Amino acid sequence: MARRKKVYEGKAKILYEGPEPGTLIQYFKDDEQPANVSPISAATEGKGVLNNRLSEFFMTGLNNIGVPTHFMRRLNMREQLVRMAEIVPLEVVVRNFAAGGISERLGIPEGTPLPRPIVEYYFKDDNLGTPLVSEEHIIAFGWANQQDLDDVVALALRVNDFLSGVMLGVGVRLMDFRIEVGRIWEGDFMRLILADEISPDSMRLWDLRLPERSDGQTPDPAPLADVYTELARRLGVLPSNVTHPAKPSVIN
Ligand code: ADP
Ligand code: MG
Repeated sequence: MARRKKVYEGKAKILYEGPEPGTLIQYFKDDEQPANVSPISAATEGKGVLNNRLSEFFMTGLNNIGVPTHFMRRLNMREQLVRMAEIVPLEVVVRNFAAGGISERLGIPEGTPLPRPIVEYYFKDDNLGTPLVSEEHIIAFGWANQQDLDDVVALALRVNDFLSGVMLGVGVRLMDFRIEVGRIWEGDFMRLILADEISPDSMRLWDLRLPERSDGQTPDPAPLADVYTELARRLGVLPSNVTHPAKPSVIN
């Protein structure tokens, strides 16, 4: 492991050459990722460990329902083995409720349900601040073609349905999230797969399990506090739970 080659170091992860051609190792750092979607204030100790687990959890679930992802297996606390892909230079955002950028741009109050999930594209370029782009830009500049974009939307909406359902099951509202997709080739045949990570760095999550108010009114949902630990706890993927898994209860 000591001699392996570093391929890329980003804000949240380091990529190393994998053991087989066409594979990569993703190492999850604790460094902060200044997300467009969910800004989080300070670097969190152990964030990388939790994001490694959380991304494993979501990608495994998606693989199980037939959504193709780059995830192969988790290697250790901070690393996972993934399929190498050619990343489409877009951050694909799906929004279910208004918050952040869309609220600012269009003057929609935060928390407003959107009439349907809205898919947006941002050009993946940190120097430009990852600007919002349209299908026209993407096709004209050759970042993807119309068929790719149809596939990207279908993939993003399947991911949205899966994640929204999983979150709702643990009292969390998926306001919005972003994904990256990559191309892999099987002979002459190209496929788009979900790449990168799915973690609190790429999702905006609001808590639906808030303490009852003294006046008896239902509290307004608010951002999920202590999001990495709390989400991992609710989903049962804290490292301590995984090394000593609780016995499943038998239902007679
Ligand atoms: P960034 O600072 O660019 O967001 P990260 O710290 O998140 O970078 O590191 C992950 C990098 O690896 C990103 O540039 C992402 O596009 C890339 N990446 C993610 N999954 C894959 C994959 N399966 N194959 C190749 N590159 C990938
Ligand atoms: Mg990233």
